Amino acid sequence: MKLLDGCVAIVTGAASPRGLGKATAQLFAQHGAKVAVLDLDANAAANAAKDLGGGHMGLACDVTDKADCEAAIETVRSRWDGIDILVNNAGITQPLKIMDIAPGNYDAVLDVNLRGTLYMSQAVIPAMRARKTGSIVNISSVSAQRGGGIFGGPHYSAAKAGILGLTKAMARELAPDGVRCNAVCPGFIATDITAGKLTDDMQETILAGIPMGRAGEASDVAGCCLFLASGLSAYVTGSEVDVNGGSLIH
Ligand code: NAP
Repeated sequence: MKLLDGCVAIVTGAASPRGLGKATAQLFAQHGAKVAVLDLDANAAANAAKDLGGGHMGLACDVTDKADCEAAIETVRSRWDGIDILVNNAGITQPLKIMDIAPGNYDAVLDVNLRGTLYMSQAVIPAMRARKTGSIVNISSVSAQRGGGIFGGPHYSAAKAGILGLTKAMARELAPDGVRCNAVCPGFIATDITAGKLTDDMQETILAGIPMGRAGEASDVAGCCLFLASGLSAYVTGSEVDVNGGSLIH
C-alpha cells in the first residue's frame, strides 16, 4: 500500500548520501510522493533527486536564509500543486564542551537547526493553511531530551530542545487549520553528521548505553517520518516520537 500517493513533500538537508533526509526522501518517493530535495549545494540536491527516480526535484536552499526558503517554496508551488509535507531535517552539530562554545559556534548550530526550522515552516504554512491540510515533521534529537551526552555539545541540545518547543507551539496554533506538526527524536544513527570526529572510544561508550545494542539506521528514522507524514497519524499532533533503540526510555 502506498501511503503518500499524489502528495508533494519537501525534505531539507536531504542530499547527504547516508543521511536521514535522503533516506526519508527515498521512502516518501517509494510511497508515491513527489519529493523536493533541498540542500546547500544545487548539484548535490539535483543528483539526490535523480536518485529517487523520475518526477522529483532538487533545489539549493540554505535554511538559515529566509529569502532562500521562500524562493524554494515558490519554485515548488509553481511546478506542483500544493504542499502536503515538510520535513525539517537540515542540521549540523559540534562536539563542544560548555566553555568552548564561541559566539560563532552558537550562531551556526542554533541557526541551521532552530532558525531554519522556523523559516522553512513559515514558508510552507500559507500553502498548507490554504488547503486546510498538511504535516510538518521536525527532526529534533535525543540530545534535547537527555541533555546531550551523545556527540553534540550543549548548544546542540539547546537547539534541538528549541525545536521541541517550536513543534508543540506550532501544533497548537495550526491544528484548527488542519495542519499537524510533530517532532522525531533520533538517538545515535550511523550517518556522516559526525564528520570524522567520532572516535572508537566515543562510539563504544554510546553503544553501551543503547539497550538494543546497535546504532540506528537512517531507514529507522525514515519509517517514523513516513508515519508522521501520512494519514496513519491523522490524529497525532504536538508529539515527540523517539527513535533511539531504548537509549532513553521515559
Ligand atoms: P547529515 O548526513 O550531515 O545531513 C545533514 C544535511 O543538512 C547535509 O546534507 C548538510 O549539508 C545539510 N545542511 C547543513 N546546513 C544546511 C543549511 N543551512 N541549509 C540546508 N541544508 C543544510 O546529517 P544527518 O545525520 O542525516 O542528520 C539529519 C538531521 O538529524 C539533523 O537535523 C541532525 O541534527 C538530526 N539528528 C541526527 C542524529 C544522528 O545520529 N545522525 C541524531 C539525532 C538527530 P552539508 O553536508 O553540505 O553541510
